[in-house]
Amino acid sequence: GELGPEQEGLVIAHYGQQLDVEGLEGDHAGTVVRCFVRANIDSLVTGDRVIWRPGRNDSGVIVARCDRQNLLQRPDNFGALKPVAANIDHIILVLAAEPEPHDNLIDRYLVASEITDIPAVILLNKTDLITDRNRADIDALLGRYEALGYQVVRTSAAESGDRPSPEVEALVKDQTSVFVGQSGVGKSSIIQTLIPDEAIRVGAVSESTGKGVHTTTTAKLFHLPIGGDLIDSPGIREFGLWHMNPQEIEYGFREIRDEIGHCKFRNCRHLGDPGCAIDAAAEAGKISPERLKSFHRILQDMAEQQARGLKLD
Ligand code: GDP
Ligand code: ZN
Repeated sequence: GELGPEQEGLVIAHYGQQLDVEGLEGDHAGTVVRCFVRANIDSLVTGDRVIWRPGRNDSGVIVARCDRQNLLQRPDNFGALKPVAANIDHIILVLAAEPEPHDNLIDRYLVASEITDIPAVILLNKTDLITDRNRADIDALLGRYEALGYQVVRTSAAESGDRPSPEVEALVKDQTSVFVGQSGVGKSSIIQTLIPDEAIRVGAVSESTGKGVHTTTTAKLFHLPIGGDLIDSPGIREFGLWHMNPQEIEYGFREIRDEIGHCKFRNCRHLGDPGCAIDAAAEAGKISPERLKSFHRILQDMAEQQARGLKLD
């Protein structure tokens, strides 16, 4: 059939062979068109900018993909990496004051962020649950990440009612964000303060319980009323939990990355081997004991996983 002129668009959802594209130009600016993809374009994901041409009956054809700033991937059921979203400004890693977060898991998310080159921000939620008993531990934990140059923000979804807290608003405003983190830390609660419209929220959030029978696992892009975009899906929330090789883990610890080259032996495993520069850097105070322990732990977990040939659950 007849196709209209080429123009720019934004992929806001993905359904098998079809995608929802929001027009960014002219008559189509702000309208959503169900598009097919020209066979010669490799896989497109939510957040991709594309060149498309309008067809009849609110349909369209995607003819090209614009360059990506970055690509967020997640493991499929067999542990293979699958692209899910593109052009993300930052990953918001949500932790809760209670139950106390594990360094190890935080570090895995951060390694994934470093590998994919998408900046991570740490968002501590449930500050209303900070007490004299856990305050010192939480401050010490967050302080370690701030010392590494990670931005740390604190909020309480419970205390912010049905509007975003000023801290969360400042964080997501005019940015393209994704929220990641363990189940139960409050991601859905925070997202609910950002996307008040029940109708658009329901698809993304109801799946997060893991109990639903939803079959769509596609990432969706939401425009936030306060400005900025949010890309969300159950899969995105599993970001970072794939099998990583030792080189990726070394690279993912930013304070360890630069020391690796100084190990005496090129195949150093950094597990107490003689001449290991990592141990020396830790002794010199350049690497915190907690991060070093976590680094060793992740290396060992991955090695064991490799040996067993199992995927991480
Ligand atoms: P998700 O699994 O990360 O999406 O977490 P949810 O948003 O489902 O929250 C898990 C539980 O924590 C729910 O019972 C929420 O009501 C509760 N919750 C979320 N945010 C806060 C908070 O700031 N303070 C407190 N006390 N509870 C919260
Ligand atoms: Zn070493």
